[in-house]
Amino acid sequence: MKRLSKTLSKGVIAWILCSLIPLSYYAYQTNKVSEFVYEQMEAQGFQFLSFVESQAHDAAARLQQSVDQLSHSTLLNHYAQHAQPQLKKYIEDQWLITAFTSQLFYQLRYIDVHGEERIRINYDTKKQKLPEIVPDSQLQNKSERDYFQYATTLKNGEQGQFGIDLEYEHKKPIIPYKPGLRIIVPIHADQERFGYFVANLDVLPIIKRITENKQNLLVDFVDRSGFYVISSDPSKLFGDIISERAQYNIPAEYPDLWKVMSEYPNRKNVVLTEQGLFFYQPFINRVFANAGPLLMVSHFSHAELDAMLNTRNSIIFAQSVILWLIFGLVSILGSLGWEHIQANKQSKKFASFVLENGMAAAITNKNHDIIQCNHKFSELFLIEPKHLIGKHLLHFISDPRDQENVITALNTHQGWSGDLAFLSPNGEQLVCQTSIQAHMDSRNKRVENYVYSLADVSNHHHVIDALTDKNHRDPMTSLWNKPKFEEILEIMARHQPSDDDDELNHNFLAIVDIDCFKTLNDTHGHRVGDEAIMYIAIQMTTLLRQSDFIARIGGDEFAIITQSKDMSTVCHMMNRVRVAVASWPEYNVSISIGIAALSNDPVSSFTNADKALYRAKRKGRNCISTHDERGTPT
Ligand code: GH3
Ligand code: MG
Repeated sequence: MKRLSKTLSKGVIAWILCSLIPLSYYAYQTNKVSEFVYEQMEAQGFQFLSFVESQAHDAAARLQQSVDQLSHSTLLNHYAQHAQPQLKKYIEDQWLITAFTSQLFYQLRYIDVHGEERIRINYDTKKQKLPEIVPDSQLQNKSERDYFQYATTLKNGEQGQFGIDLEYEHKKPIIPYKPGLRIIVPIHADQERFGYFVANLDVLPIIKRITENKQNLLVDFVDRSGFYVISSDPSKLFGDIISERAQYNIPAEYPDLWKVMSEYPNRKNVVLTEQGLFFYQPFINRVFANAGPLLMVSHFSHAELDAMLNTRNSIIFAQSVILWLIFGLVSILGSLGWEHIQANKQSKKFASFVLENGMAAAITNKNHDIIQCNHKFSELFLIEPKHLIGKHLLHFISDPRDQENVITALNTHQGWSGDLAFLSPNGEQLVCQTSIQAHMDSRNKRVENYVYSLADVSNHHHVIDALTDKNHRDPMTSLWNKPKFEEILEIMARHQPSDDDDELNHNFLAIVDIDCFKTLNDTHGHRVGDEAIMYIAIQMTTLLRQSDFIARIGGDEFAIITQSKDMSTVCHMMNRVRVAVASWPEYNVSISIGIAALSNDPVSSFTNADKALYRAKRKGRNCISTHDERGTPT
């Protein structure tokens, strides 16, 4: 669990580090998108201005065409010269049709050289469905009006514009304000002037037509003072003429924009201000010629820019989040995979260490099937390694009870060690000092492998077997007799494992003597004494291990050679015998025991054990005494 959380935290750290990539991606892409959006808006803006410009030129061309048709009409010229009522009727009809179809004029007039209105058509497109002919009785003299004064200054063949100014009627400005522009053409024959053709333009519908667009973008035409001459919003128009609208001009409303416009009035430009993204370009003004050169301006508000950016940015955000999640998945899976590879590497290292450590060794899976073994192991069983792979190693153990004991031990502990008799598939018999160690998985939960280490001790066992001779048995107890004990003691002393090999078992010698046996004999007779000897012999053979060597070396004296890891285990074992003897219900019998580790010298080993026995007797009998490694009895 700890290992898993460690691995996961490594994965999370990798994820956090990897998060920089989607973050950078988001920053880079949003930056790129904002550049792209600005470029696109700019292109769109100028495209729009070009469209408006062409619309304006169209309107100007149509207007000029209508003015030319009306002012250069032969009918008008004849009427100017001869004033025939019939001609006037024709002209009025023609003008009615032109005013209606063009929707450009709200007045068409012919005024004679004295300022008298002679023909007049009124057409207020907002109020009237059709144009109307003004009756003679309502015609006025305009000789005092400024535009008439201006008309007199025009040369023959010239066309003049007066305005833009506010329309007046009976000397008062028309409310709502109506911007007026008069186109004036002198009517003459040869050099004689008869009057003037005056067309009052309906400025607002013309502006509406010019600025109309499907994208609903606002467009303004401003003069060199920054006032609106043409605008999508008519209420801003003519701030220079109408005092209440004086605040509507670019310098006052958009100072940042005006700064650039006034500096570069003759080229198209883009200006990003607090109010939005503005773009402007010069406009060759043929519509309202006397307003001078104009600048066309349009803009996208910040809200519009943000809307464009937000849509794209939210897509990039979603992409970045997906990228981030993918990195997370890859980091976590990657760290788990990496951990797995590392664990495998460790297992391989462990395996090679085990197989190369000098002992006969094999690695099995958790079912004890051999997956790897070294040459020593294959030599032990006289089978080639490749034929050993896959074999069930537990089945090599010849005694089924030993197999069960090993399995039980491995289920409770993670290791087992002891002597085992093996019978290999080709019939090879051997006895090995065996150590089986479980190797757990990376989470330390389940057994992954077992490592078997074997040391062949068959020779030692063969020596013992060879000595199995009835002549060397004590006839009364069937235990080994004293001469065999002496032989075995000498052999065992010679086969001592080296001192530095702590892992292997050591040999110990225990001498057992019946306490006050003489008294027992004397008290109950020799038969009871013999019974006691038999009872003690049986206790020893049943309570001690099969592999332990037990001999009767005197009348009431026994010797045991046993293998164990340490002295305390031997004491524990011998104590079981002592307790069993003392608990004999028939007679009150006890034994004293002296134990010593077996050295290379059999005589001193015996002396040490005997001394320990003597100490046990002196301590009061029915007890155990040992002789420690330095030679002092304890
Ligand atoms: P300690 O506690 O000091 O050993 O006292 P002990 O009486 O046991 O002393 P000791 O070892 O000298 O006595 C041994 C006796 O064992 C002497 C002998 O009569 C008796 N004995 C020897 N062999 C046999 C036997 O085969 N059968 C019987 N019943 N007695 C035997
Ligand atoms: Mg005795």
